[in-house]
Amino acid sequence: MFTDLSGKVAVITGASKGIGRGIAVRFGQEKMKVVVNYHHDSEKAKAVVEEVKMAGGEGIAVRADVSKEDDIKRLIDTAVETFGSLDVLVNNAGIQTTCPSHELSLEDWHKVMDTNLTGAFVGCREAIKYMLAHNIQGNIINVSSVHQKIPKPFHVHYASSKGGLRLLTETLALEYAPHGIRVNTIAPGAIATPMNEHILSDPEQNDVVRSLIPMNRIGEPKQIASAAAWLASEEASYVTGVTLFVDGGMTLYPFFLKG
Ligand code: NAD
Repeated sequence: MFTDLSGKVAVITGASKGIGRGIAVRFGQEKMKVVVNYHHDSEKAKAVVEEVKMAGGEGIAVRADVSKEDDIKRLIDTAVETFGSLDVLVNNAGIQTTCPSHELSLEDWHKVMDTNLTGAFVGCREAIKYMLAHNIQGNIINVSSVHQKIPKPFHVHYASSKGGLRLLTETLALEYAPHGIRVNTIAPGAIATPMNEHILSDPEQNDVVRSLIPMNRIGEPKQIASAAAWLASEEASYVTGVTLFVDGGMTLYPFFLKG
């Protein structure tokens, strides 16, 4: 537990399931005030809010499509109107589709970019604007991926969005460090969430993925949530512009384990 987080206000995008849900519940355990953003599934988001409250925090569910500028502005405004501040923003919402790069339509490229990268930029911009105006030494966590580093064939839009997120984070971290606003990235490896349902439900695929992970196991949302809580806390007060890989060693060239 990080006691300084108690009472802090956090917005988490795409928090109705998966990693976002895990972070919301962990922030609830830290007694934070949590805005659970969702895209479509209000019932799931409400259930996450209940989990946040059960864990000891406060929460509300707010619908917003992060690929839409006005929706993000409304999301941030609602957080401030409801809880009186904004201390932490977690840009977690993300999508991916699979397609050979030479066949990828511009429409599909933009869809992934608008959600994963442009949405995160607008979220950062709005949060920083608020933090500067109210002299808040807040912090922002962008959920990237090991694919900000590892190329991902058939997912050029996804990998490009995550690679972009790394430099977005580093640039904003540098620009706003003098104001005490910290901006960091968490890069998950393979985590057991609905995004990976196809891997989790297929033993063969499961084996292939585990063979890419030196720790030989797929991660859990709560492991990403622990990293997020630490980054948001005072314990990480001198940490900005970093990517924290939470990946069981996936980015360490596992092939070399064989000697
Ligand atoms: P998920 O599919 O379980 O959850 C993604 C969430 O984003 C959902 O709640 C979805 O509704 C939301 N979302 C999608 N488009 C949105 C939009 N336009 N507006 C608002 N919300 C939207 O996936 P997850 O595994 O929990 O992924 C969370 C983040 O972690 C993503 O950015 C993903 O790229 C990243 N990530 C996941 C893994 C993994 O193995 N699961 C690995 C690396 C990175």
